[in-house]
Amino acid sequence: MKKLEKCDDCGKEDRKKNLKRINGNWFCKGCNNKRIKKHREHLKRNVLGINKEQERLENNQIKNSYKRKYYQKNKKREDKNSKDKVPRIRGSKIRKISKKIHFYLTLEEKQFLFKKYYLKGLDSDSIEQRLKEDIEYLRNYLKGMREQEISDEELNIKFKEEFAKLIMED
Ligand SMILES: [Zn+2]
Repeated sequence: MKKLEKCDDCGKEDRKKNLKRINGNWFCKGCNNKRIKKHREHLKRNVLGINKEQERLENNQIKNSYKRKYYQKNKKREDKNSKDKVPRIRGSKIRKISKKIHFYLTLEEKQFLFKKYYLKGLDSDSIEQRLKEDIEYLRNYLKGMREQEISDEELNIKFKEEFAKLIMED
């Protein structure tokens, strides 16, 4: 016998395993996706303080850096004599997100972090706290690195590696 449960939002009935239980309520897939989207929007605007204009700018920057990278990659392919290797962080997906040299967290990187905490089930306040700690941690890390007088490129890689560690750790 199949156990049916009702979505507390739209009232649709479905098998229990197809519904999600959150804070004592049942949600169907569609309503849960809407709920997550709304929550992300809330976190973005109210917790991270990213307004729409800033989001648009950062998304454009990311898009442009993708384009630039794509162009460079193809140019390199054409130039068969080119032997120089581009250094990359092994096992890190982070560079796909942020290729520019910068020492602050981009919107996408912040989203990575809050998605991680969100999936762990933390509430907005805790997520805000963790993000603050992470940002503070990276800032201090960077400060320490700068004292070692390494190049910007190297610093950028170290920063991204450190960020990747934050994403991966529990
Ligand atoms: Zn529903």
